[in-house]
Amino acid sequence: MSQPDRNAPYLLGHDVGGTKLAVVIADRNGNILHKVRRPTEADRGPEAVVATLVDMSREAMARACLSSSDLAGVGVSCGGPLDTETGVVYAPPNLPGWDEVPLKAWLEDALSLPAFVENDANACALAEWSFGAGRGFRHMVYMTMSTGIGGGIILDGRLYRGPNDTAGEVGHMTIVENGPACGCGKRGCLESLCSGPSIARRAREKAQAAPDSLLIAFAGGDPDRITAETVMDAARKNDPCARQIVDETARYMATGLGNIVNVLNPEIIVIGTILVKAGDLLLEPIRDYLRRETWERVYDTVRVEAAGLGDEVGDLAAIAVIKQAVQTEGSS
Ligand SMILES: [Zn+2]
Repeated sequence: MSQPDRNAPYLLGHDVGGTKLAVVIADRNGNILHKVRRPTEADRGPEAVVATLVDMSREAMARACLSSSDLAGVGVSCGGPLDTETGVVYAPPNLPGWDEVPLKAWLEDALSLPAFVENDANACALAEWSFGAGRGFRHMVYMTMSTGIGGGIILDGRLYRGPNDTAGEVGHMTIVENGPACGCGKRGCLESLCSGPSIARRAREKAQAAPDSLLIAFAGGDPDRITAETVMDAARKNDPCARQIVDETARYMATGLGNIVNVLNPEIIVIGTILVKAGDLLLEPIRDYLRRETWERVYDTVRVEAAGLGDEVGDLAAIAVIKQAVQTEGSS
């Protein structure tokens, strides 16, 4: 068997989600050559899921007419907690039964390629930094606003992980003392206020007292069906209740971003998912409130932008992991 070549032109990426697996082959500029998707079926256990990933990798290589000698290695984006050095995954909430799975070792054995495992939030941060809105910056904070709020931090041109690979958990900054309960066990975290479900919950509470609000009309008359998207749609139609929720969301976000900016002095904060869909409706008030939270000189340095990769971020996250790993190895 030939030695893997870290200078090989193509990269293999594995996106391991709770419901879906994606295997992607791309070049170093993030152009995707081939993609294979299958359901995860995590209840089959980690060995079976890894066997599927290996099978999908072989299928993707065959379809792209490549052999493993054309690939520099495999990057894996997976729910944490996990250890990036050993590549062991420790019971991610979305992968029941994955307790201490040596994912890196299994993939390296099966594919004869170097494998690098990264938690999905950090992998998405690397993707936005390598191929998206953060390209070209040395100091970037990435944040996703979806079911939860996750993030990743690029400092001085590299991903900052901390000793436990948990750095970048921007969703669990306390924003409101004794605020709403958060899934992490604390109260008043940014995630408990500004994740998709949290925005919807605040909107439902407000809509109770405003039966004429478009929030209820847009949810088909059923307040339980109000989502973050309903809020943005109603705010665009100038519904006062929805505007208030958007304003509150921007204020909470700016409080969190202000803390980040004052501590880390990033050049850019890239925010995904809900913010991409909301656009200026949310981005502009966030920038306005952020001005009050930061020193002028620091505020003038930092840009707050919507993520650039859209739904492609998942596909490119694992590719960015391997791209970064082989470049870092090459330079050290
Ligand atoms: Zn929390």
